[in-house]
Amino acid sequence: MNGKLVVECCDAAATALAIHTDEIAELDQQIGDGDHVYNLLRGLDALTAICDQMAAVDLGPALQLAANKVLSTVGGSSGPLLASLLLGMARAAPQEPQADGIAKMLAAGVAAMQHRGKTGTGSKTMMDVLIPVTERFQALVAAKASTEEILRELPAEAERGMLATRDMLALKGRASFLGERSRGHVDPGARSSQVIIAAICAQLDESRTHGASR
Ligand code: ADP
Ligand code: MG
Repeated sequence: MNGKLVVECCDAAATALAIHTDEIAELDQQIGDGDHVYNLLRGLDALTAICDQMAAVDLGPALQLAANKVLSTVGGSSGPLLASLLLGMARAAPQEPQADGIAKMLAAGVAAMQHRGKTGTGSKTMMDVLIPVTERFQALVAAKASTEEILRELPAEAERGMLATRDMLALKGRASFLGERSRGHVDPGARSSQVIIAAICAQLDESRTHGASR
């Protein structure tokens, strides 16, 4: 079942966040309360516990299970926002995991998240990574880019978005209380989103080339 794809992506995200835990915790200590990465790790642990259930169903129902789990386990601002992302994706999940359907699914998820968080780019949040990545994904699909190119370009776009948050003034969430003092630090949510996107793309590329060589 295509739910396996969700499990594969969760595993890749958990491995990458474990490597970057201290660094992301430090970013959130600088402009937040330090809990961001731990909130995410708790959610990913909970998702690991339901991986068999997710693997046994299709993409949409697997994402729905993930959304419910994230909502009940991930605290902070990011929990409900990520649950909205997953729920929006669940509702738009394609039958077959082809690039165009996945791009539309991600766009629907990001739109749902944006609706909940009430911000676009430029507020120094996760949206500064997710929105440009989604737009680039759709542009690449429209230009009939190869899967290889998509999986190479999206992490690069994510990195640009993450780095751009460094000089921004935080306009949303806890970091906004710092005003001008929020400048000069990368947003922890932007960094965790970028790390997760890079890990998922690397994992999908690995499965793709591994599968092709067999
Ligand atoms: P809290 O600030 O409540 O402790 P977390 O630490 O879990 O929440 O998450 C902080 C991250 O949430 C920030 O780094 C930022 O990227 C993201 N964030 C905060 N508010 C918003 C919002 N309105 N829209 C999108 N992302 C947001
Ligand atoms: Mg926090």
